Amino acid sequence: MTQALYLRNATLLQPSRNLQTAGELLLANGLVHTIHTGAAGALDQQAADLGAQVIDCTGLYIAPGLIDAHVHLREPGQTHKETISTGTAAAAAGGVTTVVAMPNTVPVTDSVDLLRFVQSTDRDPHVRVLCMPAATVGSMGVELTDYAALQNAGAVGFTDDGKPILDDDVMRQALTAAARLGLPISQHAEDTRLTVGASINHGPVAFRLGLRGMPIAAESGIVERDIRLLEEIERDTRLKPHLHVQHVSTAAALESIRSAKRRGLHVTCEVAPHHLAFTDQNLESPQSSHAAQRFHAYDTHFKMNPPLRSAQDRDGCIAAVLDGTVDILATDHAPHAAWEKNVEFERAPNGITGLETLLGTALRILHRDHGMPLGKVLALLTSSPATVLNLPNFGGELAGLGSIATGAPADLVIFDPSKAFSYDPSTSRSLSRNTPFSGAPMLGRIHYTVAAGRVQFQQNS
Ligand SMILES: [Zn+2]
Ligand SMILES: [Zn+2]
Repeated sequence: MTQALYLRNATLLQPSRNLQTAGELLLANGLVHTIHTGAAGALDQQAADLGAQVIDCTGLYIAPGLIDAHVHLREPGQTHKETISTGTAAAAAGGVTTVVAMPNTVPVTDSVDLLRFVQSTDRDPHVRVLCMPAATVGSMGVELTDYAALQNAGAVGFTDDGKPILDDDVMRQALTAAARLGLPISQHAEDTRLTVGASINHGPVAFRLGLRGMPIAAESGIVERDIRLLEEIERDTRLKPHLHVQHVSTAAALESIRSAKRRGLHVTCEVAPHHLAFTDQNLESPQSSHAAQRFHAYDTHFKMNPPLRSAQDRDGCIAAVLDGTVDILATDHAPHAAWEKNVEFERAPNGITGLETLLGTALRILHRDHGMPLGKVLALLTSSPATVLNLPNFGGELAGLGSIATGAPADLVIFDPSKAFSYDPSTSRSLSRNTPFSGAPMLGRIHYTVAAGRVQFQQNS
């Protein structure tokens, strides 16, 4: 039984070419069947022949479904925070049709069996789940996992996210082994020798709040070390290793990445929306909060790792997005139960949810406030993550992700880019509500999310 959808009278957005045209799509069997650009109605007969359900997209844009390269789905092991099913339902509500699951589950996703568990349709995912299994056994930073076997089982890269690979030799081995397979090592860049007991950015705010701070050098030092390793490996072998730096939060690390890119090294990086939206001052000052009436100091919904930094670093992140140093936006969606977050600041776990506030925050800050063209913002969320993850090289269905193309998976977000609203966490589909974006202004209302040709989210209001 085929299922067909006719998305009628829309504006089609092709982020990779920053192209916007009037057009319509006919979807069938989970794939994009026909693309028509031009006046509405050209596909009416064909849609009727297929028995397609019609969605009127007047006033709406259709873009490729978003790809979030950094998501914590918490399953197996911590299903009181999130499950693969609830996490991917939240993804769909955020217009995200592909997530890359991080391996810091319980147990750590470091084997083919666990990778298959996370990727299995038995988990009832609402969108496509890709996975980066652990770079080292148990993410202990000592012994590499079986990269070739994990790649055969579907791994799109390797990471010990939550922890850095600190040892120079182990990181060199990881970059070399992954380069042989054409996959990236994604690094959580934190020199944990400099961040023991720290729960906030190092600086005046930490001093005033009486909290131990994480210095900028804890991030930039690891990024510089990793770039040095790339240079060494390129010099000593014929390999071209790919380093992906996760959730960069400091201008200093971004400057190192900018310079490494200029030298032709294969370094890519992501920035999380919260590092564009907030600073450490959100922890002490109601004036800097979008929800002043709900403000309280030491709000653990503003605690994550890397921490919110100074205004200079936030501005450095925005500048690096605008000048192309930052390849992609990724949420680092990290759900925690209310009772886990509702404790003293230093005892609270790091992390915030982010899937449902990704597009609205990106469009508000980058498009509205900084004039980045709509297509360029969407590229950071679609075609660029596909490139960073090297999906064209995977062939098959993955090759078509991040663009709208005939025969590619019908993974799409249908939205109104001009609609402003404020975020209400009570509408969240995540199991957890640990978001700093409660009441925050958003731009771009998602009306439908289509994954593999099926409507996985529909706006009710
Ligand atoms: Zn991390
Ligand atoms: Zn993470």
